[in-house]
Amino acid sequence: MSSTPISSPVLPVDLDLIRKYDLPTPRYTSYPTAAQFREFASPAPLLAHVDAANRDASLPLSLYFHLPFCETLCWFCGCTTVITLNHQSSDAYLDYLEKEVALLAPRLHADRRVVQLHYGGGTPTFFQAPQLRRLDALTRRYFQFAPGAELSVEIDPRRLARTQVAALREGGFTRASLGVQDFNPKVQEAVHRIQPRALTEQAIDWLRAEGFTSLNLDLIYGLPYQTVDTFRDTLRQVLELNPDRLAVFSYAHVPWMKPAQKILEREAALPSPEVKLEMLKLTIETLTAHGYVYIGMDHFARATDELAVAQAAGTLQRNFQGYSTRAGVEIMAFGISAISQTPASYRQNHKTLGAYYAALDRGEAPVSRGLELTAEDARRRDLIMRLMCDLKLDYAALSRELGLDFAATYAPELARLLPLAADGLVELKPEGLRVTEAGRLFLRNIAVCFDAHFTAQSRQHARAV
Ligand code: SF4
Repeated sequence: MSSTPISSPVLPVDLDLIRKYDLPTPRYTSYPTAAQFREFASPAPLLAHVDAANRDASLPLSLYFHLPFCETLCWFCGCTTVITLNHQSSDAYLDYLEKEVALLAPRLHADRRVVQLHYGGGTPTFFQAPQLRRLDALTRRYFQFAPGAELSVEIDPRRLARTQVAALREGGFTRASLGVQDFNPKVQEAVHRIQPRALTEQAIDWLRAEGFTSLNLDLIYGLPYQTVDTFRDTLRQVLELNPDRLAVFSYAHVPWMKPAQKILEREAALPSPEVKLEMLKLTIETLTAHGYVYIGMDHFARATDELAVAQAAGTLQRNFQGYSTRAGVEIMAFGISAISQTPASYRQNHKTLGAYYAALDRGEAPVSRGLELTAEDARRRDLIMRLMCDLKLDYAALSRELGLDFAATYAPELARLLPLAADGLVELKPEGLRVTEAGRLFLRNIAVCFDAHFTAQSRQHARAV
């Protein structure tokens, strides 16, 4: 992998283009997207894909554990959560995670190695230090880790004790992603997430002191009472904390899927689409001016960070956890709502504790939905992921790889890109296409041209920017 320093030019943002392309489109953490999954009466057909993938004993594993509990609900939240103050819930949940791992791990060849492990939520730090140690022991009992495996965890600074940070470090975790959202007290109050800056700073101090080497901060723009000025102040404060990476998400208002979000409409304080776009422009211009590379899809990383280096080297990947540097993995995901991925399938677990526990009590894998990819789905998945990660497609290389004439086969898709090329978002040449600097902001609009399942009527997706 190249270690050449990457320059980070300030990325100018054209608001007229954003207005034009701000349409609902998928985020492509998978292709086809979860909207295409169908119910499966039995997990057997999807588990057959696990066995098929297992014929390649060298196929690396990426493990994900969904730890869904939160003490309180943040009203903007779009995650699958279980709100409770009862911390004993996590002991019962661990019992069931153990059952699930015990059902699946023995199917795997002993030579398979874990290269990546991620705890997501909910709030992984709802689990106290002894429970985090128990989960670590469980994982290591059933799986072998490759040297240099990447272990990462989502952290809620409001629910963190130093003992938990120590337990995570003992388990080998070195990467953490901290939810911040916004530092403004009025915004925090409006979204039901009070998190004084001192708490975030304390979490960062503990993580760095215990030996975490990569910290990401999550922010959200589009929340009630946010203005361009308040968000500028939040960005200023965030830069003082010097994170390695930042994810700055547009608030996705989908009250038909997340009814609690209706609360945010009450005070009519949600910023207008126009103000949101100004905040996006401010964010990109501010962060790129301060040495962060805009990776794409809301993610920023220091120019020396693995993500930016991997993107420059053409080895960046994208999956359900966002961008990743670990290529060619099978994702095994455990816990409610978790989505697993083999080379030719996706499968998603039941979304409620009741259904998840009941399936495991019957001795069944707790799978409810999924998708078996056709060969064409798999091809398009690769195209879309290469676009989202490498920001270019090389037609000759793709033609060799896929055994077809790429430009001729995908001529209708390439024709769909012509208006985006006219707007300077993508360069179309006989030998390939390249996303321009300006086009980085419109990756979803570019990728959707290769999506054979997308219909413009779909309301399930948040807007593109
Ligand atoms: S802590 Fe995170 S997962 Fe839990 S409700 Fe808040 S935003 Fe959602």
